[in-house]
Amino acid sequence: MSTELKDRLARRVRELRYSVIREMMQRAAETPDVVSLSIGEPDFITPAAVTRAALADALQGHTHYTASQGDPELRAAISADIKAHQGLSVPAERVLVTHGGMGGLTAALRTLLEEGDEVLLPEPHFPDYLAHIAFAGGRPVHVPTRFTDGFVPRPEAIAAAVTGRSKVLILNSPCNPTGAVIPGAVLDEIARVAVAADLFVISDEVYDRLIYDVPFESIVTRPGMAERTVVIKSFSKSCAMTGWRVGYAFGPGYLMEQMLKVVNYSTSCASSVGQRAALAALRADPAPFAAMAEAFKERVDYLYARLSAMPGVRVSRPRGAFYIFPDFSAFGRDSRALAFELVDKARVATVPGYAFGPSGESCLRLAATVDITRLATAMDRVAAFLASRQA
Ligand code: PMP
Repeated sequence: MSTELKDRLARRVRELRYSVIREMMQRAAETPDVVSLSIGEPDFITPAAVTRAALADALQGHTHYTASQGDPELRAAISADIKAHQGLSVPAERVLVTHGGMGGLTAALRTLLEEGDEVLLPEPHFPDYLAHIAFAGGRPVHVPTRFTDGFVPRPEAIAAAVTGRSKVLILNSPCNPTGAVIPGAVLDEIARVAVAADLFVISDEVYDRLIYDVPFESIVTRPGMAERTVVIKSFSKSCAMTGWRVGYAFGPGYLMEQMLKVVNYSTSCASSVGQRAALAALRADPAPFAAMAEAFKERVDYLYARLSAMPGVRVSRPRGAFYIFPDFSAFGRDSRALAFELVDKARVATVPGYAFGPSGESCLRLAATVDITRLATAMDRVAAFLASRQA
């Protein structure tokens, strides 16, 4: 193939890097007897009642395109669920069903950004935001967070990063990769910054139901925010439904109307069978979902206890999601080298912190997506590896 053809592919795609997470997953797959803590999805399978209901609906003919906004029954059920869980009145007309949380993120950013607009991105952050921002022609502006603040974004740091081109702020609470949950008082202040700087906010709440010992609060409830906030939710994590590809977004009517065009022209609609599964999940006995959330909490607590006891490891207690983001700066600052050494020598796969932004450089992300027995094996291996490193 001539280089000229290759070089004429879209720059904004060529310039994206394949994710380090994918690279680590490949390395893990090639490593015998590895414990992989690199995968950001529940190890549980979708509760059988949900799958059965979705398949029965498929047999009844739910195999066609749905409305682009989503299956009307699902949107009504989502509206009721938002009321029940967050006490918010969001009519079904302002709910847009999407192809996972990913569909919501891409539609929101494409609707909000003009070429060159800046997106304020507290980091460490979910790396895929960079691609969504690039596809929409925007520019990411990192806002560092600190280990000593439990990686909670600081309102004053957000304010300091605002320029004349700032358009959007992305918040992710609970956070992938740090497990940080933004406390209500901090959300109050961030909301004041967003209003003063006239920013839109994308509030990525895909881990909202995986929350440990703290209340979940959303910025959308703060004064002046409902009119400028798009909330992104997903069935993937809390319902163990990553493969069904269903999430949703809600926000002000004027914005959802435009976002609908992006969903319509990019995906037509979310998968019809996936949407029936999501409806079944909302109607199902919540006990299996609560049990999964409880298992994640137990695992995260276990990782926190084990890592805290390892000399030289600093760790901040996750308040949500299923990740932990310990700092290994006592062993050097190169997280990539450390992660590869760990998988090659100790057979534990993690994700190097630099993948999530500069503030993660000396950290590793561990996902609590294997059972406690495997986690114990992983922690024994990490402890032995670090002890040999120190000796
Ligand atoms: N936001 C965050 C922070 C995530 O970690 C993920 C998945 N890893 C998503 C959004 C998208 O998930 P999905 O499309 O499966 O809903």
